[in-house]
Amino acid sequence: MTLSEKIFHAGVVGAGGAGFPAHVKAKSKVEFVLANGAECEPLIHKDYELMLHFPKEILNGFDLLIESTSAKKGYFGIKEKNAKAIAAIHKYLNGKKELTKLGDFYPSGDEFELVYAATGRLIPPSGIPLDIGCVVNNVETLYNISRAEKDLAVTEKFICVAGAVKKPSSFFVPVGTSFKDVIEFAGGSRVSEFGIFVGGVMMGHLTFDLHDVITKTTAGLIILPKDHYLIKRKNQPEQNWHRIGKSACDQCSYCTEFCPRYLLGYQVEPHKVMRSLGFTKTGSSVWNQTAELCCSCGLCTLYACPEDLYPKEACDKAKVEMREAGIKFIQQKEVKVHPIKEGRRVPLPQLIMKLNLQDYNVEAPFNSEKISINKVRIPFQQHIGKPAKAIVKKNEVVEEGQMIGKVQDGEMGANIHASISGKVSQVTSENIFIEA
Ligand code: SF4
Ligand code: SF4
Repeated sequence: MTLSEKIFHAGVVGAGGAGFPAHVKAKSKVEFVLANGAECEPLIHKDYELMLHFPKEILNGFDLLIESTSAKKGYFGIKEKNAKAIAAIHKYLNGKKELTKLGDFYPSGDEFELVYAATGRLIPPSGIPLDIGCVVNNVETLYNISRAEKDLAVTEKFICVAGAVKKPSSFFVPVGTSFKDVIEFAGGSRVSEFGIFVGGVMMGHLTFDLHDVITKTTAGLIILPKDHYLIKRKNQPEQNWHRIGKSACDQCSYCTEFCPRYLLGYQVEPHKVMRSLGFTKTGSSVWNQTAELCCSCGLCTLYACPEDLYPKEACDKAKVEMREAGIKFIQQKEVKVHPIKEGRRVPLPQLIMKLNLQDYNVEAPFNSEKISINKVRIPFQQHIGKPAKAIVKKNEVVEEGQMIGKVQDGEMGANIHASISGKVSQVTSENIFIEA
């Protein structure tokens, strides 16, 4: 089997958030492979811990990908402040692979930012790194690629649980483990009433559902008291975001001035999207279309806006509406980095202060203990592309690592595997349940 086939078989998807099937990248031919170890979501430190404890595996995945894509060079993006992780990674570098040291800014892990920092190239508007000869993979994806080469499927997720828990930490859990079990493993919540930010406070989503489960793309859980500023802000009904925005936005344009995509030279102008809330319907003006290249980093809503409005959410809404209306925005003007870009970067410590998270900003050390789980719920859709289809039935006995859901060979999607050994207790249209 080729590396791409092994990755496909093992069900590896981008572990950094979106869940892009990794076999597609391994099949491409590029000039540069980039490892993304930037990790900039406040309080989430799992990539740091992974780099510290598993550098050999990560670098092996990096090497495999450099070889399979015939890349001439690999860049390893990592924050300069993470000296211990740099030292761990550095041992495995050579002339073909070099470090790209990044500042402690948000969002230095955005692939557009990382590609620019490492190669000086700008991804075309609406394009992907492949368009300019690059592929980017999160460090955990590289770790999983290294395992896939040894025919080991993705059955575990490395996560960070932080915030108001007794033992902030990073650890492996079987895919499909409930949030309840995971929070208990991190010592339990320090408060009786809390909300859970899944994947981070900036780009993740808020839930109160302890029965929800860890998937192949969950970076971590941030637990915050129910009366925390961020919970109150995120827990507003959606119609309020836009209703308040319509009347209270004074068009100061700070949201645009701080937007990292705008500063890179893309036509992302959230203040115009906010303007469209008051005056237009989707498609009748170009205002909404300036949301198309937004990466949903959340900086405009949670850092820039002096009125505590929701420009990021307005951009999210505009993107959905444009997609439904069949409108695709094509940037006409050349992408040119804004001369003030460097001066406008948002230091992570400053963002943490603004978000009132300073009391929770502690290390989340690796816990190598194995979590004991006797029940998992594994969703068919944990990735971009087609969902997997069940290949096991109720009451069937499965072994950890056994394939239980499959997509057609070569299809855009990812196979899924049993994350614990046991009996299939239920198969629904969306999930497979296994009990030990
Ligand atoms: S920063 Fe806030 S008030 Fe200013 S234009 Fe943007 S949404 Fe409106
Ligand atoms: S969320 Fe806001 S700041 Fe971030 S890319 Fe989108 S418009 Fe720009």
